[in-house]
Amino acid sequence: MSLEIVFSGGDVDRAAHRRGEAALRAREPSARWAVAWRGRPLFRETGGSLRLAWTGATELKALPDLSTLPSVYLGEAPDGPRFAADATAALPDLAAPAQSFVDATRTELTPGRVFADLRAVMAQVDPTDAGDAATAKGLLEWHRTHGHCARCGAPSEMEDGGWRRGCPACGAKHFPRTDPVVIMLVLHGDRALLGRQAIWPERMYSLLAGYMEPGETIEEAVRRETAEEAGVPVGRVGYVCSQPWPFPASLMIACVAEATDDAIHRADAELEDAIWAEKAEVAASLRGEPARFTAARKGAVARTVLEAWVAGRISL
Ligand SMILES: [Zn+2]
Repeated sequence: MSLEIVFSGGDVDRAAHRRGEAALRAREPSARWAVAWRGRPLFRETGGSLRLAWTGATELKALPDLSTLPSVYLGEAPDGPRFAADATAALPDLAAPAQSFVDATRTELTPGRVFADLRAVMAQVDPTDAGDAATAKGLLEWHRTHGHCARCGAPSEMEDGGWRRGCPACGAKHFPRTDPVVIMLVLHGDRALLGRQAIWPERMYSLLAGYMEPGETIEEAVRRETAEEAGVPVGRVGYVCSQPWPFPASLMIACVAEATDDAIHRADAELEDAIWAEKAEVAASLRGEPARFTAARKGAVARTVLEAWVAGRISL
């Protein structure tokens, strides 16, 4: 099924065969960097939309020479090589943004160039840039949190243009993590199962979701998570689509599933509430009309799946 998925696509060719020459590519005059600060990409604000601010090594006086920062090689764009660099340590004077579920604040670096929380602005980012921003964010975050070898504990080093870390002490190679998450449209007739977590914005309900566990198939994870969170038994499971979700390292695997009973028994404390929602009221909430709940935010795959279901594009 072809659905529009935020964070998919992008115009940078990963050019995996060139990762070994990343240091050389960084010296090309056409090299450009995606800059991140505290996990937030730098954007150019133009009108209402945000473009990733691809920046030359010495283009902005507010930043150090980007070729001197630890960089990951994203690949090749039509007009030259692309990198991502974390400038957090180089910008100690910028005030830290607030920590919240979705932080809409933007931190200005220079006029027209702002650092913004990717999750807060995902629906405004040009689709061509969103995928590149997700790759950059995911990769930089992995390096930030995986500085030591998971086998022997020694400090590890960036290799292969940032797509691997190697341990000089024991020789282990470590690769960027992707954590699969199942997110499911559980249906009972013309109703969908929605839940809410206590930390979410008030009245927001969304699809149930959970991390896959080792030794599980996608179908088994859908059944286990739905049973754990809502006590609802699930029969058939089908695949719908997937979405990279770099907060910090998830891959959302969207499924449609058939509930074989509609009684809800919340056993664990993960959800604050779970409800069955009629298709008509889901449609109303997606249109922004008064409803029992507000649906997931634009750009999140939960919303994409609910929109496709309301439009009659998903069935079991
Ligand atoms: Zn090691």
